Amino acid sequence: MKRVLLTTAALAAAVVVLIIVSLPPRQQRLQPADDGAIAGVMHVHTNRSDGRSDPDTVAAAAARAGLRFVVFTDHGDGTREPDPPTYRSGVLCIDAVEISTDGGHYVAIGLPRAPYPLRGDPRDVVEDVARMGGFGIAAHPDSPKRDLQWGAWAAPFDGIELVNTDTSWRVHAGRSVFHSVPTLLSIVAAYPFRSPETLSRLLTANRTTIRRWLEAAQQRPIVAVAGADAHAQIGLWEFDPIDTNVALPLPGYETSFRSLTVHVRPTQPWTGTAATDFAALLGGLRAGHAYIAIDGLATPASLTFTARNEHGTAAAGDTLEPRGPLTLDITTNAPPAFAIRVWKDGEPFGPEYHEPHVQVAAESTGVFTVDVRGPDQDDRAPWLISNPIYVRKASPRPSSEDAARWRPPSTATLKTIAGWRAETDPASRAETVSTAGGVQLDFSLAPAPARMTHAGAVGVVAGAMKGCEGMTFTIRGERPMRVVAAIRTSFRNVAEEQWHRSVYVDQEPRHYAVSFGDLTPVSANHSPRPPVESMAEVMWVVDDTHAIPGASGRVLIDDVTIACGPASR
Ligand SMILES: [Zn+2]
Ligand SMILES: [Zn+2]
Repeated sequence: MKRVLLTTAALAAAVVVLIIVSLPPRQQRLQPADDGAIAGVMHVHTNRSDGRSDPDTVAAAAARAGLRFVVFTDHGDGTREPDPPTYRSGVLCIDAVEISTDGGHYVAIGLPRAPYPLRGDPRDVVEDVARMGGFGIAAHPDSPKRDLQWGAWAAPFDGIELVNTDTSWRVHAGRSVFHSVPTLLSIVAAYPFRSPETLSRLLTANRTTIRRWLEAAQQRPIVAVAGADAHAQIGLWEFDPIDTNVALPLPGYETSFRSLTVHVRPTQPWTGTAATDFAALLGGLRAGHAYIAIDGLATPASLTFTARNEHGTAAAGDTLEPRGPLTLDITTNAPPAFAIRVWKDGEPFGPEYHEPHVQVAAESTGVFTVDVRGPDQDDRAPWLISNPIYVRKASPRPSSEDAARWRPPSTATLKTIAGWRAETDPASRAETVSTAGGVQLDFSLAPAPARMTHAGAVGVVAGAMKGCEGMTFTIRGERPMRVVAAIRTSFRNVAEEQWHRSVYVDQEPRHYAVSFGDLTPVSANHSPRPPVESMAEVMWVVDDTHAIPGASGRVLIDDVTIACGPASR
């Protein structure tokens, strides 16, 4: 009996010690300072996908955390009609969508209902979201889970998550057991007492991602945001709640919302009308008038970052034409122990500052950012991360077409198609009619539950294909859709391997020039690049990746040519 008591006491003492050493510093309460920005949370899952609670419950949690907007990002392909913006518990609720592409997840805000499923190649999803007027964010770009990593750095995506809670979990869990087990123990010990602080302390910001962001930002503004990726549940054996039957209700929505926020300065003051307030918020977000705050360290945050020269004044997110000496102004309510740092093109610029108002002379062009770190933050996410001020000549925003521009060389030989036939899965139907310069495809995809359905027009190419670089065509259809342009090569004289990319089609005839080097393998092909010399067929295919099951209609493909280098003459 005595031994049992002693053992229990020793265990209790060990637990108390564990809790004491694990407890993160209490969240510092700061003097609120109005910087014109509105605090909210982005990237939140509800029970419409793999989150635990309904939108009303989530909004109530956001209200308790003192937030004023929530961006719901339930998984989807954009074909569900989004709810209009509404106020719930006084919190502006925005119904956005997190789209799973073949190269990571893309959060789209302000999208109307998509006319066809948004998925497949991330480049295409970026293009579709932009065409439909949405604002797109590369979610958890640096996730340790390969499927979740962003794979379209050259595409003109609008924003990027520099901090994401799901990624941070995976980073900690993926380290050695000597790191992950003590981390897990300290979370378990500290979470019940200081949950936002515990969660905040886990948040990471990957230096490589920040470097890639700023590299891409040399070409165009890219808005930095943070994703709570809040589900209010975590799988016990797998992180993804959808992959497991056993889920813990942690971390709760309110804890997430008290840990990590995004502050956005709307384009006009909020009036209490959901639609106009949302437009003002989205305008501010598009402009990059936003910063990231880790509230579990200190709250409520305030940050103003501006730059001025002879040309004018710019706020974080803006582009300022270089003219004369440049001065950067930074104002925060950071605790004195926190360090303010200026970065130029991703490199530290000048010393650390500890004053509430900082003025930095910078007689140069560059992409300037500011972060504010708490003491002993090492590789954790800084307390605040600003958006950049781009001091450079303003240049027009590149479109997806610019990003993938290829033109057949003027010296190219143009080959045409020898003959056409239709091709489908057993359950779908297709008919082709040859036209003067191409083909007319009438298709009817099999309805669900048939899968991998496709219907296409196949053109047989004739002659030597060595040195062929790409194909050009004009295409139109009866309604907005995506059609896959593909080539099929023969491997050991068996026509079997395909490379493809999809193009947008509607009633307007659109001319496309597709480089073969830009095509991606359909499955595990023998080489990542198509062996053009063994090309046998070209194809235009409607499939159930890009169309809803049972879709039918007509596509007209014209002016089809294959552009081959002078070598193949
Ligand atoms: Zn995701
Ligand atoms: Zn998510």
